[in-house]
This record gives sequence, C-alpha cells and structure tokens, in this order.
Amino acid sequence: MKKPILLTAAIALIAMASLTGCKNKQQTNENNEKFCYNVDKFYDLEVLRYRVEGFEQLSLQQKQLIYYLSEAALQGRDILYDQNCRYNLRIRRALEAVYLSDAYKQQYVTDPESQPFLFEKYLKRVWFSNGIHHHYSEDKFLPEFSREWFENALAESDYTLDKEVIDVMFDPALMQKRMAQADGIDLIASSAGNYYGEGMTQAEAEAWYAAHKDNSPEPKWIGLNSQLIKEDGKVQERVYRVGGLYSAALEQVVESLRKALEFAETPEQKEVIEKLIEYNRTGDLDTFNQYCIAWVKDLNSRVDFVNGFTETYADPLGITGTWEAMVNFKNIESTHRTELISQNAQWFEDNSPTDPEYKKEEVRGVSAKVITAAILGGDCYPATPIGINLPNANWIRKEYGSKSVSIDNLSHAYDEAAKGNGFAEEFVIDDETRCRAEQYGTLCNDLHTDLHECAGHGSGKLLPGVTKENLKEHGSTIEEARADLFGLYYLADPKLVELGLLPDKDAYKAGYYQQMMNGLMTQLVRIEPGKDIEEAHMRDRQLIANWVYQHAENKEVEIIERDGKHYLRINDYDGLRRLFGELLRIIQRITSEGDYAAAKEMVETYAVKVNPELHQEILERYKKLNLAPYKGFVNPVYTLVRDDAGNVTDVTIDYTEGYVEQHLRYSRDYSFLPDVN
Ligand code: ZN
Repeated sequence: MKKPILLTAAIALIAMASLTGCKNKQQTNENNEKFCYNVDKFYDLEVLRYRVEGFEQLSLQQKQLIYYLSEAALQGRDILYDQNCRYNLRIRRALEAVYLSDAYKQQYVTDPESQPFLFEKYLKRVWFSNGIHHHYSEDKFLPEFSREWFENALAESDYTLDKEVIDVMFDPALMQKRMAQADGIDLIASSAGNYYGEGMTQAEAEAWYAAHKDNSPEPKWIGLNSQLIKEDGKVQERVYRVGGLYSAALEQVVESLRKALEFAETPEQKEVIEKLIEYNRTGDLDTFNQYCIAWVKDLNSRVDFVNGFTETYADPLGITGTWEAMVNFKNIESTHRTELISQNAQWFEDNSPTDPEYKKEEVRGVSAKVITAAILGGDCYPATPIGINLPNANWIRKEYGSKSVSIDNLSHAYDEAAKGNGFAEEFVIDDETRCRAEQYGTLCNDLHTDLHECAGHGSGKLLPGVTKENLKEHGSTIEEARADLFGLYYLADPKLVELGLLPDKDAYKAGYYQQMMNGLMTQLVRIEPGKDIEEAHMRDRQLIANWVYQHAENKEVEIIERDGKHYLRINDYDGLRRLFGELLRIIQRITSEGDYAAAKEMVETYAVKVNPELHQEILERYKKLNLAPYKGFVNPVYTLVRDDAGNVTDVTIDYTEGYVEQHLRYSRDYSFLPDVN
C-alpha cells in the first residue's frame, strides 16, 4: 500500500537547481543555507539529513509525545535486522566490535584500497541495508576486504563469530537473496529473510496459512506478526509479542508507549496508543484490527505515528509484516495548500479545456494531508518511503477508510541535497532557466503533485456504460497522463497566483521546464540501453513531453545541439500551455469514451520507444556526474531538558550527529535482542 520509491536523480530531478551562479535566492532562507543536507556517500548509496521544520513551535506536550514515540521507533531496530536474515545481528555486532577495537583504530588509514577502509565501507553499507543484503535489489553484497584480514581483526576485538556466520558473509553461494522471486523455486527455502525458520518449505507454510485462514467478514490477518518454524516435524507459530519472539525489544517499545500515553493529544489518540500497547503485549490480531480502526479514526491529533509489523513486501508469501516506525506531525501550511486546491476543484473543472460533455457537473476535491517526519525507524530507516497509505486490511479501508499522507520534509531534503550535484549544470540549457528552477522548482513540483492528486484524478466523467477497465493495459498510463496534464495546465493559470499559491505569473515556467526535460530526456537515466519504457508514470511523462514536442509546429519547444550535447529549449511558454490543454482535451475524450484503440495508439506512438542515440548520450552524461541512485537519512537527536526540580521544560532537536556516530549510538542504546532469536 505504501510503495518504497527508487530515488534516482531523475525522480529527484525536481531538484535540478544549483546554488552556483544564481543571484535570486528568495526561496532559500538563511537557515537553509547553513543546514547541511548531504551527510555521506558510499557505493550506490547517499545519506542525507532532513529538517523537522516547525518542531520548535509545537507545544511542550506535543514535543514530549514525539520524544517518547521516537524512543519507541528506535527500540525496534534489532527486530528488522533479525527479520532480514538470522545472521544479521551477529554480523553487525562483530563488525562494530572490530570497528571500535583499539587494534582497528591503530591501523585505520584513508587509502581507499586499504583493508580497514574497505571494511568501514562494508559496515556503512550493512547499516544502510539493516543487514547484509542490498535494501532494494535484495542481493547479498560481499566484503571487499579479505577473510583473513577480517578474522585477524576479529581476534583483536571482544567479539567472536562462528565459522558458519563468517561463511555467510564471504561465500557468494550462501544466502544470495534476501527475498527470492523467481518462478519455479521454493521461495522460502531460497530466501535469506527470517520470516520462516530453517528447514521450512513454501508448501508447508502455504498449507499452514490455508488451514488457519480467517474467513469471517472482519478477518484477522493470520501470520502478520509471527514466524513459522518446524519443531519435531510440525509447523509451529512463534508470535512477535512480549513474552514471545522479539520480546526484549517489544518490552522496551511498550514501556515508551506507556510514557507517551501521558501526553496523548486527544481521547482518540489515547485509544490508539492503548490498543497498540495491548497488541504488543498479547500479539492478539483482533486487538490489531481494533488498533487499526482507532488509528484511522484519529484525525484531530496533530502528531501521528506508525510503529509495528506493517508492510508485507519482504515476506516472499506477502503475509508477515516487517517492523517499521515513523513519527510525524501535520504540516499545517502545506495541508492548507491542498485544501485550497480541493476547495476550488469545481472552478478548475468548469474552466478546463476539456469538452463540455466530458466534464463533471459536481466535483469533489480531495484534500491530502501533508506531514513532517520527526523520526524514522525500522524499515523506514535509513531508506524511507515518501508517502504512507494505511491500513492494509481491505475490509478496514472499506468500512472505516484509510489515511494517505505525503511527507514533505523528506522530499524537500532530496531536492535540497541534489542542489549543486552537477545535474542541472549538465542538462539545463542556460543559467536563466536553471536559476528559475532553483527558485521555484520545489514549489512548482509540490503544486503540480497537489493539482494532480487533489483535483486531476477526480476531474472529468465517464460516459454511461464506460468503466476504467475499457482502456485495459493502457488504463494507468492514460489516467496518470490525464491527472498530470490537468496539473500542468493549471500550474500556469493566473488563478494560482490569485489564490496565493504561486508568487508571480512566471514562476510556473520552472515546473514546465522540469516536466519537459524529464519526460523527453533525463528520466531515461533509469532505463537500460535497448530497453523500452514500461512503468506507467514514466510512460505518462514521456507521452506528454513527446506528444507536445512532436506537435510544436511553431517551435514552442525544441531540442537543440550544442558542442555535441542535446538540450531542451522552450521558446514559447504560453504556446506550450496551449499544447498541454489540447492534449488534455484529447486524453479526456479517450478516457470518457473508453476508446481503447486511441489509447493504444497514443501510448505506442509516444510513450514506449526511446531514441537510442539520445538515450546513450544521456546515460553517458549522467554517469560522469557519479550520483548515487539510492538515498537514506540520518535522524535528528531529541533531548529532554529538565529544570532543577527534574521537570521537563523543553525538548530540543539537534542535527549535528553523523552517520557513523548515529549507528554506533543506536547499537549501544537501542539494542535489546540476543544474537540468536
Ligand atoms: Zn496519479
């Protein structure tokens, strides 16, 4: 329900601006300039820092609530390591013991080829992935230092590892994949993930789930919070709960939740926390359902959180939840932005360039909640989703609704961190365009997303007898293009300036340039040479940019060549808006009439194929920038401030902790599980 997003620079293209050479920096306040978003970089990973804007303005009660919920978010860290692979905790502890040993510190040098340096890189990678498998590709990564060097270093530390565990680290044949997905193999036996005990087979697990399935109208999610193991030849369930599996960590979580309870903002929130405590204590899945319902109903608290076994992507059978945590609070200013758009949804509908017979008489805008993340934990850390859409149980969603939020401060951190990485200098045609993007790029991107989500998808109507299914395999590309075009058309409308959403009538140009450049050129960095575009959002973006480019008869947009490199040039922004409007009219007609043949032709002509020479050129230019495709974060540090009598008078937030320091501290202060669970 909540998709982890692959953040290549192309997605973070929104942030194509650079700090160099642009005079206008109205959007960058002084704090921002001092704040360092880039923390560390190794392999294909980059570590960033995010700001918790607005934390200082929260009430003392809210700050304390966040403090204790943050403690609960960090206390489950070991659970995720163990879920990812049963050797992970031992390996992490051995690596940290070596890293902290005097012998290691004495031999440490910064030569990137040296054994200690390669060792440090490996450890950083283990922290990033919460284990020895890549967090995204699922493949085990191998140490670049030698086994002999490691065994000697380990002997100088105060930790020992069995040969069996060292084999898992170094032998490429062992535990290759965290989660296997190939056809025709036993998914459980070939996955390193620890959702099933040693010796369990896929058939045994499936049989157990089938026998225990809850077929009632309000079913329990059997298997969500347990590991299946084989004992004495029989399949047994080990439940994640206090007194059960992962007890030592869950006891700490419960303790922090109890402290948080005291600072709950509303009776609804109090119930959420109480139910979660009870669920962690008992492991009872009826209680979990009650907790989910209470969570959905808690709409008036400013602070919100997720803590527990939630998403099921990492279990090859898609049943057991991975431990994750996030604490956040509502971003009032940004939520206001989405509310304003939602309130004007009817005006947008009435004034859109679509044909009158396809317009909705009555449009209901959607207002999205925008949040500020305050702490990330478990499977949300260091790599993180940029949205949350929960709960996962369909019957609860249907009967009680769900909460869907976007996390503004994390996406802004991606944007800010990308400034000055060379991307904009390489691909944007000139300084004027680049500087406009720096000034208004993030704002335009936020607004475009809001228009897409809060007004675009809900606009237009289907003619009688037409359903979404009419467009079959091209349905999602066409639907995303429709919402994107709606957003693009209105991004340039004076109405946005009138509503106070954009500062002036030219700001939208930043959004137009980045959408066109991304759709025509830079998103190709995510496609391998020779491959077509498959993913619906990528197809949608190329469809729009390519159609407009092919129809720019008066050279509203063009691609020019300079010193052997190609650049997008926009000559006529008003004309470009007219073209977006024209395409929106066509796409709306296709949607309203369910015209499959036209949808197919539109997608196949404009959205799928890639110009191979341009693609090659873009890939080469991108490669030279040496950017890391995957990003993650360090958390801020919260500290209680007490007066002489011991009363808490404030909670401070600090952003200075580094990546290595943070992980070493977490392993010292938030590690509760035994080596073997
Ligand atoms: Zn969409």
